[in-house]
Amino acid sequence: MGGEQRYGAIEAGGTKWVCAIAGADGTLLARERLPTTTPAETLGRAIAFLRAAGPLTAVGIGCFGPLDLRAGSPTHGFVTTTPKPGWTSVDVLGPIRDALGVPVGFDTDVNAAALGEWRRGAGRGLDAFAYVTVGTGIGAGAIVGGRPLHGLVHPELGHVRVPHDRARDPFEGCCPRHGDCLEGLASGEALRRRWGRPPEQLDEPAAWTLEADYLAAGLLNLICALSPQRVAVGGGVAQRPGLLEAVRARVVELNAGYLAAPELTDASAIESYLVAPALGDRAGVVGAVELARDAAAEAAAAPKDA
Ligand code: ZN
Repeated sequence: MGGEQRYGAIEAGGTKWVCAIAGADGTLLARERLPTTTPAETLGRAIAFLRAAGPLTAVGIGCFGPLDLRAGSPTHGFVTTTPKPGWTSVDVLGPIRDALGVPVGFDTDVNAAALGEWRRGAGRGLDAFAYVTVGTGIGAGAIVGGRPLHGLVHPELGHVRVPHDRARDPFEGCCPRHGDCLEGLASGEALRRRWGRPPEQLDEPAAWTLEADYLAAGLLNLICALSPQRVAVGGGVAQRPGLLEAVRARVVELNAGYLAAPELTDASAIESYLVAPALGDRAGVVGAVELARDAAAEAAAAPKDA
């Protein structure tokens, strides 16, 4: 394979798409942010950006979901049951693969971010690592044994149930499917609806104590189920000063000494366990580049057919 390898990457979110071009070593060479509008317009603009970069070796896409990731499924690469208007049952992978004609790696936005942090950030060298985002929505990706975890569908941490004391918090929750699941109670959208203004304008200490309690309950569910060796917590809401510290303290409290690792029983040891992403808000796009590199390596290793 001659010439300089270049990779295309898309972090396809529900409110914006970040498209990027990276060099052979993964260094980002160009980046563009697009608002998520209609599927046709958004896909068209992303494809135009990637095409303008010249020949690419492969493309990686980390996409908002839920997604169909089952190899061989007729709707593989589709966004499936999203509440986002206009995006239900939309093929994201197909149009990009057809337009570019190169191998395309495709996974959830949070699995891409987990992969980015695992290869180049807070998860380096670990066997089991999770990335959680707390933004407009809530989600988690995980790398287990060197691979993004898919399973039956893919992890959907935002939709686990957490205790909801209606006397303390009468808000019904905002998940269109479940009402008061974790995302319904603790996402940026939930904060906005419960308190009547966006999280960045919210200063009541009670609002953030409640938020820390919900996030800690959700994170402890993840920790009990997957036993990750570290968890990076990203997303806009998670950047609230003091929130991660409050969540750590509450996780130690809720664990109540049961999981007997210092990271989960000791107020200072947990500081290196529940961490901010080392790549900051670049985790998703860096991870999408890694998906592209993996897709290229897989294609190179596959037996050539006619
Ligand atoms: Zn839900």
